[in-house]
Amino acid sequence: MHELALVTAILSAVEEVHQKERGKIRKIRVHLGELQGLDREVIREHLEAGLKEMGIGAGYELVEEEASFRCRRCGRLWNLRELELSSEVREYIHFLPEAVYAYVRCPSCGTHDYEIAGGRGARVSFVLEG
Ligand SMILES: [Zn+2]
Repeated sequence: MHELALVTAILSAVEEVHQKERGKIRKIRVHLGELQGLDREVIREHLEAGLKEMGIGAGYELVEEEASFRCRRCGRLWNLRELELSSEVREYIHFLPEAVYAYVRCPSCGTHDYEIAGGRGARVSFVLEG
């Protein structure tokens, strides 16, 4: 996903909520998956410019959503922090989440049969006044 396309989608959601709630947005939260590999600075820059242009004074924050994995065999849920991975492997996984299957097994039962349960994609949520 590209930063610019993401910010355009966020701004369109902001515009819609802004109109529906008659300007009562207090805060915009942008949740970014750890595995998404997006440039936070580029997002900030475009988001700030867009909000200013739209005349929306609400604050915003970028929230990092941690990557998590769920085993299909034993149901174990875990995240990357629990594992001892080299920084090189961590970098591979950030660029290409599927690379995780080459380096990581379920910490409980050892299978490669698990799914990426969180930390991909992006979403936006709003804190409203009153
Ligand atoms: Zn397992």
